[in-house]
Amino acid sequence: MTSDLVILKEEMQKLAKLPRATYNEVTGVSVYHIATKAFPYDSIGGSVITGMGSPGKITSDDKILSEVNRFFDQNTNYGYVDFHTHSVGTIEEYGEHYAYNFSDADESQIRKNGLDNPDYRQMLITPKRVRLVRYDRRTDSIIDLPIPRQVDVKVLYTLREYISRFLDVL
Ligand SMILES: [Zn+2]
Repeated sequence: MTSDLVILKEEMQKLAKLPRATYNEVTGVSVYHIATKAFPYDSIGGSVITGMGSPGKITSDDKILSEVNRFFDQNTNYGYVDFHTHSVGTIEEYGEHYAYNFSDADESQIRKNGLDNPDYRQMLITPKRVRLVRYDRRTDSIIDLPIPRQVDVKVLYTLREYISRFLDVL
């Protein structure tokens, strides 16, 4: 069972700029510390870009992915939310629909990952909106979750500092 997500305000602003910063689509992971009794939110401490590519054709960087995987092997109280952008380029090439929606390919991947892991969540960032979703097995549908709440608290700066020792965060 996952908890609601929180994120540093300045980090959410950096993520929100990605779909305009490049014509290309960007994919990555937002790394969070799993909620504790003391701080009951899944707390995003840093986001890492793991791939980029022209709209609809993102390729991941294997070297970065293996660094990310190594981090999770060594830090078992952390989790991740996959994210990707639908950029200005995506919308120009494929239409306004993608300013608000996942593609069919995105949805089938979310479904597949959700079947493997009921806690799987994915975030879509477009110039128009942010969505956070998960696959609901019971209704066989993809459902929207509250997007990460933006906060400005010391514990997240500390987390960010920790994660940035291992990974190249935004
Ligand atoms: Zn997509």
